[in-house]
Amino acid sequence: MTDNQLTIIILSRNKNLYSTKRLVESIEKRGHRSVVLDHLKCDIVIEQDKPVIYYDGEKIKNVAAVIPRIGASVTFYGASVVRQFEMMNVPSAVESQALVRSRDKLRSLQILARSGVGMPKTVFTNYSKEVAKIIDSVGGAPLIVKLLEGTQGYGVVLAPTKKAAESIIEAFHSMKARVIVQEFISEAKGADIRAFVIGNKVVGAMKRQGKEGEFRSNLHQGGSGKLIKLSKKEREVALTAAKAMNLSIAGVDLLQSDRGPLVLEVNSSPGLEGIEKTTGKDIADEIVQFVEKLIERSKRNSGRR
Ligand code: ADP
Ligand code: GLU
Repeated sequence: MTDNQLTIIILSRNKNLYSTKRLVESIEKRGHRSVVLDHLKCDIVIEQDKPVIYYDGEKIKNVAAVIPRIGASVTFYGASVVRQFEMMNVPSAVESQALVRSRDKLRSLQILARSGVGMPKTVFTNYSKEVAKIIDSVGGAPLIVKLLEGTQGYGVVLAPTKKAAESIIEAFHSMKARVIVQEFISEAKGADIRAFVIGNKVVGAMKRQGKEGEFRSNLHQGGSGKLIKLSKKEREVALTAAKAMNLSIAGVDLLQSDRGPLVLEVNSSPGLEGIEKTTGKDIADEIVQFVEKLIERSKRNSGRR
């Protein structure tokens, strides 16, 4: 090992995922060393002034930066590992606090609303019995009911009538599942926009269209991606949303509505496959270039410490 080479760690549970493989390739292509670590196998040692991480019994050292690719189901432990790297003054492509915050849907929507971006009208409820009132407060049916814990389009239901909406909400509540009730944006016509943000730039965008008869545009639900050029407003909204969430790397999902772009969600581990294949751009390389800048900045700061 030559040691003016930088080591960049990717925190990922699976080396074979498209996004992980692409990041490894890009790190190596730019002349650095890449190491993929499963965050669930990292042991965190907490001791005064000496934060340490062990992996398979070995102490991790000389790390220039980390790129977290942490799944929603392991956010808590994954973010603790990222926080430990931060304690060791290792910069992270996604800050631990921003990662945790992005996984809390209610908190995310509150933060986004405060940032002034447009959003579908949304109600959260703690198993309220006032179902009819909740429905009225988002403008009545048709409306969208979402499981608070859902991802990839699973647990997102379109209720065509008020009666159906009531039954769906009550059914979820009876299963002790918490839901979000949201205004249905019919003008979006089963499509949404994924804007991929790195730093203060949108580096790629695609329109995802749900398959025939499907209002959900998720690629996991059979949707397909198409290259699109964002309007100035859409670009601004995507950047404002990522910034409000304190995410330097983000996948911002937007719906095109009659009242302009509406933010649906901001993803802190956005997948690379769909966006790279649709745009033909080397997004992984842009991420690594951004990480190089983080490393530079961190070096300058440590010079001052
Ligand atoms: P998930 O996080 O599970 O992907 P989303 O909230 O992104 O759930 O919803 C999945 C898809 O359903 C979106 O990509 C979009 O196409 C569609 N959708 C979600 N909310 C609305 C809404 N309020 N109006 C219209 N379509 C929506
Ligand atoms: N994790 C994927 C992403 O953020 C979700 C893609 C999808 O369900 O459409 O890009």
